[in-house]
Amino acid sequence: RRGWRRVVRVLEELEEGCATPVGRLRQVVDAMAVEMHAGLASEGGSKLKMLLTYVYNLPTGKEKGIYYALDLGGTNFRVLRVQLGGQRSAIIQHNVDRQPIPQHLMTSTTEELFDFIATSLKDFVEGEGNVSEPWQGETRELGFTFSFPVKQTSSSSGTLIKWTKGFSIQDMVGRDVSQCLEQAMSRKGLDMRVAALINDTVGTLALCHYHDEDTVAAVIFGTGTNACYLERADAIIKGQGLLTTSGGMVVNMEWGNFWSSHLPRTLYDADLDAESPNPNDQGFEKMISGMYLGDIVRRVILRMSEESDVFGPVSSKLHMPFILRTPMIAAMHEDNSPNLTEVARILEETLEIPDVPLNVRKLVVKICDVVTRRAARLAAAGIVGILKKIGRDGAGGKTKGGSQIKMRRTVVAVEGGLYSNYTMFREYLNEAVGQILGEDVAPHVIIKATDDGSGTGAALFAASHLTSS
Ligand code: ADP
Repeated sequence: RRGWRRVVRVLEELEEGCATPVGRLRQVVDAMAVEMHAGLASEGGSKLKMLLTYVYNLPTGKEKGIYYALDLGGTNFRVLRVQLGGQRSAIIQHNVDRQPIPQHLMTSTTEELFDFIATSLKDFVEGEGNVSEPWQGETRELGFTFSFPVKQTSSSSGTLIKWTKGFSIQDMVGRDVSQCLEQAMSRKGLDMRVAALINDTVGTLALCHYHDEDTVAAVIFGTGTNACYLERADAIIKGQGLLTTSGGMVVNMEWGNFWSSHLPRTLYDADLDAESPNPNDQGFEKMISGMYLGDIVRRVILRMSEESDVFGPVSSKLHMPFILRTPMIAAMHEDNSPNLTEVARILEETLEIPDVPLNVRKLVVKICDVVTRRAARLAAAGIVGILKKIGRDGAGGKTKGGSQIKMRRTVVAVEGGLYSNYTMFREYLNEAVGQILGEDVAPHVIIKATDDGSGTGAALFAASHLTSS
């Protein structure tokens, strides 16, 4: 087939464009820390929103009792019941009811959506046979994970800034999210109060901190990406006067919107952004998260196909945005069969490109590798950027006596389908964190995968709200 040399050239250009040597990653680390500063200094001071959460304390492990949580963040929503024993490691019981949000409710009215949620919650609570619950006669406390951009007004209330992820209920924008839920619960005769309103990253941080108090930050790599961390109160300049404690507060970075000229950007990224419904928005997310990685790979294959015959005639499927999903590029990337049969199957079934020779299949695997490796290494730089901002990157310097300041054990919680399912993404990320930090510091930093934190974390907040008040 003609054009093999051209195709190899396209691959080489891709590799150059996506290069992430440690020196460049350190520039991204610095840029992240600088932007964090700017976002904390003033409202609108950075592309990083650095939203205040009013969460001053994280769960300690002493929480006791039975708590409920509601997790609404995308296509599914979940109701959880968590029983806490007060002894850190023991989450005694953990029941979950997961169901899809009916499509029509995503674009209906606030009342319809929340009535549906309140009804599901009521069924769940009453179905549990709650005779032995400790607070008979008292109002029950609920944690609410609501993973859309919210301007918090307290740790248990906040107004919706905008919908994302396919939701569009215009009368809800600007309204108090917790109040909407409480009104629906009272319409349904359910006596519950929203004790905590959080997003998914904060839930992940809470759950990991419950088990391990050295946890300082949490990051999500799923369809999208976001991070939160515990910041010192005096570093939150824009919040002075609001902050009542001398301790710290969890800050929701909304880091998907991070941007820096040091990010290695290719023409494929520029095209993807320009053709997206939100150009110039969520630039970091578009290079890193599960929603986009597959589509970057598709664009590279399309270009190769247009410039050569190695994929046969150009398949019309290659022109369809998002047809190649990230789980598929993971499956191709991790195809261990000698003839790359999985690669051949996906190219044929999804992209309608049949009879791809082995050397071209290998080329496709290489494209997946380059795109995912860049994503994982930039994600790692983002994480180290947070550590740098809070002085946990080992650059603390020397004491007055000249000895190196001892690096404290530092845990970062990580969650999301991209990280948990895509082994190569996870391995590249962990490797890069080690490379950036260096061998003296890296052993003190633990990247810990958590599961189900986004929902369980909200229940822990409902509990810690009671413990601390
Ligand atoms: P969400 O972010 O939608 O709330 P998840 O954390 O479960 O939910 O992440 C789902 C995303 O994870 C998917 O959109 C997909 O991009 C990614 N993902 C899921 N499974 C895999 C997989 N096997 N390999 C790579 N990525 C995956």
